[in-house]
Formats: sequence, C-alpha cells, structure tokens
Amino acid sequence: MSTAASETDAVGRLAAVRAAVAEAARAAGRDPEAVSLIAVSKTFPAEAIRPVLAAGHRVFGENKVQEAAGKWPGLRADYPDLRLHLIGPLQSNKVKEAVALFDAIQTVDRDKIARRIAAEMADQDRRPDLFVQINTGEEPQKAGVLPAEADGFIARCRDAHGLEIAGLMCIPPADEEPSPHFALLAKIAARNGVDALSMGMSADYEIAVQFGATHVRVGSAIFGARDYSGG
Ligand SMILES: *Cc1c(COP(=O)(O)O)cnc(C)c1O
Repeated sequence: MSTAASETDAVGRLAAVRAAVAEAARAAGRDPEAVSLIAVSKTFPAEAIRPVLAAGHRVFGENKVQEAAGKWPGLRADYPDLRLHLIGPLQSNKVKEAVALFDAIQTVDRDKIARRIAAEMADQDRRPDLFVQINTGEEPQKAGVLPAEADGFIARCRDAHGLEIAGLMCIPPADEEPSPHFALLAKIAARNGVDALSMGMSADYEIAVQFGATHVRVGSAIFGARDYSGG
C-alpha cells in the first residue's frame, strides 16, 4: 500500500470510528458530543498525521514524551488549537517536558510524579488536564494505582499536591473481558467525584462508551497496524 493511499484510509477510518462512537453513545442514551475521540498516533510520523489534522480532527494521543517532542511542535505551529494527550507512563525526569508539551496527562499514578507535575504547572503557568491511571487488572507489569489505593491517591493529589483531577484512565488486561474493568473505573470515579473516564481502545471503544467513557483512545483502527520493527 502506498503512503498516499494509507493516509486517505486514515481519514476514512477516522470518519467510520467517529460514526461508531456516536452510534454507541446514542444506543446508550448518551450525547455523542460527550465522548471525545483521541486519535492515538504513536509510531506514526508527522506526515501520516497531517491528513487527519487537515480533515479537521484536533485531539491526539501519544505514549512517549520523547517521540511526541519530535513531531508535535511542528504540527502545533500549523494547528494551534489541537489537543495532545499523554497516554503512556511518565518518568519523573520527563515531567518538565511533558507539562510543556501536552494538554492532558492521563498517567498520573504516584506521589513523586504528582508533586513534580504540580511544581512544573506553577513554574510554567500551564494547566494540563490530569487523569489518574488506575491499574484495574492489578497487573504487576502495568502502571497505574491499584483500585484499593485509588481513593487515597486521588485525595492526596487534591489535598497534598493541590491538583485538580479531571478524570481516570485504565487499560484493561489484554486477555480479559473489558466490561468489568470499565465498570470498576466508572465506580471509582463516581465515588470520588471525578467526571472524565478515559477507557476503550480500537478493540473495545464501543463497549467503553456504553459504560460511560468520556474519552476513547483509538490508534490502529484509525492509523492502521503499527510497525515497531524500527525500534
Ligand atoms: C496504543 C495505545 C492505545 C491505542 O491502541 P489501539 O489498540 O491501537 O487503539 C490506547 N491507549 C494506550 C494507553 C495506548 O498505549
């Protein structure tokens, strides 16, 4: 497949995903406008993202600070109203750059990071939306706060670190039915008075919308299969 053809495909697939999100919302009795579609562009170069921007889409997700720093400043110069979400793990030595680069950070999951984010927000006078990542599957290799520690961590973010928590985010275990994880995330959000729910990826975004997702993070269903062979 040529590059030009796959770019056209990305715009077409984006429209199809957008329509499916809206349909899932209506089927659940929800306002389609209440669900933000985050186009996850990780591993794809700026040239693959430009057609999607040109088609009018403005909300994107990246999982690595370094990769995002390489391609997004140039895109943002041309599309100042775009919104970039960090959806991958954040190391403390990257917090400064992340606060400068992203409009939302979805992976707040420990006090050290929360403290540094608060300091950088004050220093840079920037206010990215913050989401706490919850490890709903309690997977040892996965980032995120354990469900049993969620209430305490959210309270410390607010009270000790002075952060406003816009939402919660989860990545269910790859080999499990996602619904119970989406339901658990919604329950933790509700009891903590948190509004936004970032959940649902290419394979399960319609289910996530049914369970109240306000943000779905869709990559391969829009941009196509990722190639990690380049490293
Ligand atoms: C890559 C990624 C996505 C998108 O995954 P797809 O299955 O390609 O839609 C969503 N969320 C996170 C955290 C990711 O790293």
